[in-house]
Amino acid sequence: MKKIGIIGAGQLGQMLGFAARDVSIECMFLDPSEDPPAAAAGPVIRAEFDDQAALQKLAQACDVISYEFENVSVDCLRAIESICPVVPSPHALENAQDRLAEKRLFDSLQIPVAQYGKVDDSDDLKKCADVLGLPLVVKTRRFGYDGKGQAILRQIADADAVFESLGGAPLIAETMVPFQFEVSAIGARTDDGEIASYALTKNEHIDGILRVSRAPLDNPHLERLGVEYLTRLLERLDYVGVLALEMFVVGDKLLANEFAPRVHNSGHWTIEGCAGSQFENHLRAVAGMPLASTATKGYPGMVNIIGSLPSDGASISGTGSQTHIYGKQPRPGRKLGHITIIGETAEARDRRIHDIKLTL
Ligand code: AMP
Repeated sequence: MKKIGIIGAGQLGQMLGFAARDVSIECMFLDPSEDPPAAAAGPVIRAEFDDQAALQKLAQACDVISYEFENVSVDCLRAIESICPVVPSPHALENAQDRLAEKRLFDSLQIPVAQYGKVDDSDDLKKCADVLGLPLVVKTRRFGYDGKGQAILRQIADADAVFESLGGAPLIAETMVPFQFEVSAIGARTDDGEIASYALTKNEHIDGILRVSRAPLDNPHLERLGVEYLTRLLERLDYVGVLALEMFVVGDKLLANEFAPRVHNSGHWTIEGCAGSQFENHLRAVAGMPLASTATKGYPGMVNIIGSLPSDGASISGTGSQTHIYGKQPRPGRKLGHITIIGETAEARDRRIHDIKLTL
């Protein structure tokens, strides 16, 4: 039986660990938290993510190493590559960790993006405002997530304050995209170059945090474009595993925002909504197995449970829906679980999502 070591033991690790059981793979995790969600799915080495001795121990115990979040140190991963393979590659991770490198990669693949500029000081920010116009979405190049490490520059007089508010770190400034909605293209690629992609997913955020996902989009043009961009990225990176590409929809165009070299919150519906979930296919790709079907069953949707758990869990489950609770302590803004709905029609799914949102 193949043993996969996963850095991080949050809910994504937990769902990877549960999926592993169906494909005769064993998962082992590394995480500094006490009793993290993935402890329900496999043994956890309790250590900091950059604890080299602990990482070596994980690498020695496993056939291959993967990760469930993108702020893992690339240097630490490169240091254990001599013990066992790290998949997806540290090279892919390196590109995802720096928003500027990521945008340049999209450019080189002719994947459209918002206009952007590199910002190292507040003068650069003022120059960007001159060249690109206002407002600008200003982001730290590294370590941002769920809208954190981000500010909006609306007038040039605020440039110094906006630059300072982001801690003086290297930044990127982007034009504000007048998008209709956001989508993600999620797919898996194996070492042999086999690619399987999921239906394009429509995403709804509140305060930068994903709240609801729905698939499929029922827009063949955008579906085709999403798969095309995802495929270019997977092939350029010689990628192995699951990758999520987040994009803005503007009319009949897709503009790439960022990619995550891992399983993704907007793909949770694939557990009930596909024969092979994103978790199973990540493990299959990482373990060198052929991919399972990514065809969509019915009309799936997903609602995140954020901040607090519903007082009556029973009231939100029901025919055609499945509740997943990760076992985390409630805290404002924290993802504690999610509910998947599989509707027979898009309308039935959307009615159910509406009702669930009212109870959360
Ligand atoms: P990010 O951290 O890049 O995923 O951004 C978090 C959220 O901010 C996105 O999901 C969008 O809703 C919004 N956002 C980010 N960049 C832009 C942009 N250039 N224009 C408009 N909205 C943006």
